[in-house]
Amino acid sequence: MKAVHTARKLPNDGVRNGWYESLPPPDAPRRVSSTITADWAVLGAGACGLAAARRLGELRPDDTVAVVDAMRVGYGNSGRNAGFMLSHHSHGGIKHLDVARQADRLFGCGYTYLRETVEAHQIRCDWSDQGQIYVSASREGDAHLDAVADGFDALAVPQNRLDQNELQAITGSRFYTAGVHVKGAALVQPAAMMRGLGATLPANVTLFEDSPVTELHTDGGMRLVCPDGEIVAKQLILTNHVFAEEMGFKRHRVVPLGLFASLTRALTAGERRHVGSGEQFGLLPASPNGSTVRLTVDGRILMRNTFTYARDKRFSDDLIENAAANHRTSIAKRWPALDGVDLAATWGGIMAMTRNEGRVFGEIAPGLHIVLTTDAAPMTRGTACGKLMAEKLCGIESEELRFAEMIPEAAILPPDPLLRFVANHRLNKIERTEPAER
Ligand SMILES: Cc1cc2nc3c(=O)[nH]c(=O)nc-3n(C[C@H](O)[C@H](O)[C@H](O)COP(=O)(O)OP(=O)(O)OC[C@H]3O[C@@H](n4cnc5c(N)ncnc54)[C@H](O)[C@@H]3O)c2cc1C
Repeated sequence: MKAVHTARKLPNDGVRNGWYESLPPPDAPRRVSSTITADWAVLGAGACGLAAARRLGELRPDDTVAVVDAMRVGYGNSGRNAGFMLSHHSHGGIKHLDVARQADRLFGCGYTYLRETVEAHQIRCDWSDQGQIYVSASREGDAHLDAVADGFDALAVPQNRLDQNELQAITGSRFYTAGVHVKGAALVQPAAMMRGLGATLPANVTLFEDSPVTELHTDGGMRLVCPDGEIVAKQLILTNHVFAEEMGFKRHRVVPLGLFASLTRALTAGERRHVGSGEQFGLLPASPNGSTVRLTVDGRILMRNTFTYARDKRFSDDLIENAAANHRTSIAKRWPALDGVDLAATWGGIMAMTRNEGRVFGEIAPGLHIVLTTDAAPMTRGTACGKLMAEKLCGIESEELRFAEMIPEAAILPPDPLLRFVANHRLNKIERTEPAER
């Protein structure tokens, strides 16, 4: 392995995040502005990184932990998602029941750790154990929904079927033909949750923000070089998601999938009468071409659809405008009376997909470890894997850790341009099929 790893690309702080924008301005960040020494370093303060740092701090109160991010906590992917913290998930078509059960245990493990932390520190993030409702809007979508329900049956997760009238009572829309409600997931304001998690780390954990790591030296300990200083640590956990490959780690293991979301402005009292009882809800699509939809506590609609292959890790204005147009159409299809309602913000973010629902979790070299959350329910799965990595490094065995390690390693993918071609082909196909679901 090389001794010096240069970051070829850094996270792009030019992209908006509607959740983050609705929070009060943050306190000034603590930056890496000198040489910091720590027992442990964690690179990346998303769901994986904050869980790993918190757990290390809890388990090793006499050690020091430095967690560093290029941006403000809550601004990255973990604070720009749809806010579903899933304790169970099914997308149908379970291939290996044992693997699906193990993944389900990891979702539950991450959910519980997040819930306990949010409760213990009274983190204000609109946490609500609302559960998730999978929905369909056409015959093809209904078939996907049956597969989702079969998946939950196989996992022995209780579920409740909803018909069109029941969905209309919840959402105010007759767009949806059928649904499956599963209890146990939380809906949150993700940027608020992440900011709260960053602000309540144990005393021996120090968070550094606005400090991009441009170079990593791995000979004789770990040295993380930032523009105005560096962190020197004995051990490092990489939790920088798809940017790990930009430093040369775990290349060709994940497909960076660009997802887009919009939040409307707060609906007026008159407008809210069109979206059900006024109580918040969270809908997950059964069809791959469907939309994730929420009504938030503060009366805004979140719409998420549209995909891109995001190897560039940048979202042009054209991509954002195209996504916003799709989101406006999807809102009008569900609630014709809300056609033209203003979108307060539209943004993109990245999710990592593997070919085999595999894992990126383990040791890369002595003192250097990686946790990258992938595929289904990545927020809770990533939280679990960050926590379990810290436990592994502190010698704590558990059934969940065994499960995390039993999941097969993420299968190798072809390089670009072949992967770009295949990914674009698949994404175009998804966007062409079942348009009624979007
Ligand atoms: C629109 C959208 C909706 C989604 N909805 C959901 C959902 O409802 N539920 C769910 O479970 N998942 C959802 N996801 C996926 C989920 O948000 C991500 O999979 C998850 O946040 C990844 O967490 P992470 O900790 O691995 O990475 P990240 O949150 O990306 O954290 C990695 C951090 O590393 C930092 N970093 C990278 N490189 C460097 C460097 N060189 N120097 C310093 N810092 C660096 C980044 O700034 C970043 O903050 C959604 C994603 C999107 C985009």
